[in-house]
Amino acid sequence: MSFVPDKTPIHSLTLPQLQEKLSALGQPAYRAKQVMEWLYGKRAGAFAAMSNLPAALREALDGAFGFDSLEPVRTLGARDTTRKFLFRLADGALIETVLIPASPALYGEGSDRRTLCISSQVGCAYGCRFCASGLNGFARNLHAGEIVGQFLRAETLGGERIQNIVFMGMGEPLANFDNVMQAIAILNAPWGVGLGARHMTVSTSGLAPRIRDLAAQPLQIRLAVSLHGATDAVRDRIMPVNRKYPLAELLSACDEYVARKNQRITFEFILIEEINDSLEQAAELGRIARRLDAKINCIPYNPVEGLAWKRPSLRRQDAFMAALERTGADATIRREKGVDIEAACGQLRLQVSREGGAA
Ligand code: SAH
Ligand code: SF4
Repeated sequence: MSFVPDKTPIHSLTLPQLQEKLSALGQPAYRAKQVMEWLYGKRAGAFAAMSNLPAALREALDGAFGFDSLEPVRTLGARDTTRKFLFRLADGALIETVLIPASPALYGEGSDRRTLCISSQVGCAYGCRFCASGLNGFARNLHAGEIVGQFLRAETLGGERIQNIVFMGMGEPLANFDNVMQAIAILNAPWGVGLGARHMTVSTSGLAPRIRDLAAQPLQIRLAVSLHGATDAVRDRIMPVNRKYPLAELLSACDEYVARKNQRITFEFILIEEINDSLEQAAELGRIARRLDAKINCIPYNPVEGLAWKRPSLRRQDAFMAALERTGADATIRREKGVDIEAACGQLRLQVSREGGAA
């Protein structure tokens, strides 16, 4: 299921693809490079601004290609804090993008790099029981232009360069594999945004076959796996995807990723009271992570309106982390930024749709 815009979104094309389309219009190859320079170097917002192109070509481009269709609806948060952008897409769908000023838990203490948390779909089909993004089900995939557009808009609205991207917004990025890979290619390319692949993290709830597909990609994209349970019993209870791809299968795909990329992966583990915060879970999580030499990122659960799940007390969080450390695993706990502005996953969109906006 994918929304098909009237005109090809210009930000969804790679340089070779644009070259091919322009040569069909009888244009020399260097024109495509000029267009990319306007789009990503100068961040032009319209073909009319591309002053070194002949007027006739600008008109032809305008007739054939569409521009970024993300309309900023609401921004929460201020400079130097987590900022959350809500965008309306061409078909009225709402998505959210979160700009995190620095993420020492993810990238090391003292890091001043800004990270952008990007959505890959409208809604999500995977229905993890604790997550706001899946509450209204799945609507559609984002096309590559809408993914790249989130980055460009966030830099403009935020007024700062962004150094990292994490696909941890709404949706399951590996269920929208082709569009996400296309967007990553554009974000990575020297003629595009020029962001290193190691600065882009794809987060998945555990689509084992797609993890293997990602392992086969040439780019050194980082992988985060939303584990949230160290046994099938716990994962089955909160993540329906585990019935399709149980832990053994998921971990074997992770093995392949680590081996082929020669890279450390990250396990995300949301701490939910009485669900996965026992010391036994901590010990098992540590064992799994050590075997794969993976990092562990614990995140105290962010309560979602309408869902009964709770964040464990600080004492329980500390006990869990201590048990994890005893296993010798490399674990950190992310004290959430932006909880105050409902920055966590799908929550702003939920709030706006409850107020009566389109979702
Ligand atoms: N679908 C992908 C990526 C989007 S979710 C995935 O599941 O990995 C990004 C992360 O936020 C996941 O680890 C997800 O489990 C987590 N998450 C979802 N709801 C949350 C909540 N209420 N509090 C804290 N983390 C949450
Ligand atoms: Fe979808 Fe990820 Fe939320 Fe699960 S946690 S419902 S996969 S967005």
